[in-house]
Amino acid sequence: MKNVPKIVDESIKMARCWFPEAYARRKKYQTFHFAFAWKRGTMIDFGQNNIAQPHAAALNFARMFGIRDQIKYPYLHAEVDLIGKLWGNIVIDRKVKIVSLRLNVNEELCNAKPCMGCSSALSQLGVHRVWYSDAAGYIQSW
Ligand SMILES: [Zn+2]
Repeated sequence: MKNVPKIVDESIKMARCWFPEAYARRKKYQTFHFAFAWKRGTMIDFGQNNIAQPHAAALNFARMFGIRDQIKYPYLHAEVDLIGKLWGNIVIDRKVKIVSLRLNVNEELCNAKPCMGCSSALSQLGVHRVWYSDAAGYIQSW
């Protein structure tokens, strides 16, 4: 893919690399959402969505950040899974960059724009650089 930062390219490679394992663990067709955290050019951790069952961490997180939709439907979003892993391990601040990617069953990039709740939580944490794949498979950023 042209004109995307190296961390996005690397994230796409990793998502494709982990896809078969993620796919094998799922029972029915779903898309696969990965969120990668980068700091100073190093990938520090990644998260994955889990919409198979409601998740206690997702509920706690939703309450902490006042995310109404996720209090109602506390399924783990990739960004929430990621923030949960980073929490207490690294300083989450504006140096953290997020790459959010979704792969369909054919391993094509599709819409991974962070939802309102995750966007709000990220900005409350001071994370202001996010790249994500859009519905057409292109990379967007904010
Ligand atoms: Zn979300």
